[in-house]
Amino acid sequence: MKKIVVLGAGESGTGAAILAKSRGIDVFVSDMGEIAPMYQALLDQHHIAWESGKHTPELILDADEVIKSPGIPLTAPLVRQLIKQGTPILSEIEFAARYTHAKMICITGSNGKTTTTSLIFDMLRRAGLDVGLAGNIGNSLALQVAQEDHAYYVIELSSFQLDNCYDFRADIAILLNITPDHLDRYDYQFQNYVDAKFRITRNQTSKDAFIYWSEDPVINREIARIRPQATLYPFGSNEQNVAYTDGSHLVVATRPEVAPLRVSLDELSLKGKHNQLNSMAAGLAAQILNIHNDVIRESLQQFTGVDHRLQYVATVKGVRYVNDSKATNVNSCWYALDSMTTPTVLILGGTDKGNDYSEIDQLVLEKCHTLIFMGKDNGKLIQHFEPMGVKYISTNRLQDAVQAAYQSANEGDTVLLSPCCASFDLFKNYEDRGEQFAKAVRSL
Ligand code: ADP
Repeated sequence: MKKIVVLGAGESGTGAAILAKSRGIDVFVSDMGEIAPMYQALLDQHHIAWESGKHTPELILDADEVIKSPGIPLTAPLVRQLIKQGTPILSEIEFAARYTHAKMICITGSNGKTTTTSLIFDMLRRAGLDVGLAGNIGNSLALQVAQEDHAYYVIELSSFQLDNCYDFRADIAILLNITPDHLDRYDYQFQNYVDAKFRITRNQTSKDAFIYWSEDPVINREIARIRPQATLYPFGSNEQNVAYTDGSHLVVATRPEVAPLRVSLDELSLKGKHNQLNSMAAGLAAQILNIHNDVIRESLQQFTGVDHRLQYVATVKGVRYVNDSKATNVNSCWYALDSMTTPTVLILGGTDKGNDYSEIDQLVLEKCHTLIFMGKDNGKLIQHFEPMGVKYISTNRLQDAVQAAYQSANEGDTVLLSPCCASFDLFKNYEDRGEQFAKAVRSL
């Protein structure tokens, strides 16, 4: 009997184990950390053997295949050993795709993945299609394939998930942008990260679609270099693209035989330039799937957005507080600052992932009168911003950061939490950071 070992029992690992078991595969789950009680119960319910808080090498090294959680780096000692002995290491997505004929709409990029994925999911649901949401959001793809397979999946893919995809083929692949992120996981080589992102086009044929932002220099360079086989659907700011903005409208015109979709920019429910790009990408995917323009328009006008992404929290003494806790890299903070229409107090800091803050220098000078640093170690932030002469306050706790912002903001200002950094120094995750921020703001 084929033997599969699943490393990491989170949402994706547990789902993969249940799918493997349902297909009669001998499966064992191993997690170096503590497996959450919910997943322990699920594994037990399906009579799947597991271990928590350790990896027993002899139980792992004789696997025919290993399904690895995207959170475990390829440099982990056990993973290195598996690679060395030639054991195939798959992502949950690769594994799940073997067992479904569904159409796959896959979204990657450094920023905007969750927003675009959720928007496309909304469009497909409004169109009445049988669709599942998977990848970094929603339920595990493997679990859905095992228990309630759908005709379509909208899948958010991180570079880590793409790292271990080999035969997987996206019917529609979307690449929103590529800016440096997660370099700590890619030997600090930007190209390694770029290569991971471009794996989304792997195995695509001319019958498949590749939707991409045509003004991203890195994407353009790579397209010229690797010449993807898929039919190309570029979006951007002019009519040379199949989706574009013409100053007052967003236009999506996939093929001449389909009437173009035109939606007034004022009517888009998601605000900011970055969201115009996300809306174009989503509109293209939906039009390629023959969804009626009226449905796409309705979704673009009514979609309410996703938590922790430029989310309005409250107005206190005439100051607006905005939670953009999901801005875990410098580029997403750039877009958040760019969309600010009032003087801004910016709260930033956390776990630095090899950030280059100079990308936001100009917007900081233009829009921010005060910076509040919020992290265990603010040294790098101070070193970068102090010479610019912007007023800053260094804090090590969220309560202090919110208080400092409250003291610094004037009526009419916006206090923006858009940290540029991961949250793990002070919080469980970015959701925890955003929720604690909202709570602290509401109790001001
Ligand atoms: P991801 O899932 O890729 O992390 P999200 O949709 O969660 O992206 O958005 C994260 C943050 O990135 C948002 O708060 C916003 O500030 C910024 N952002 C969203 N879309 C884009 C885009 N197309 N380009 C650049 N930044 C973006």
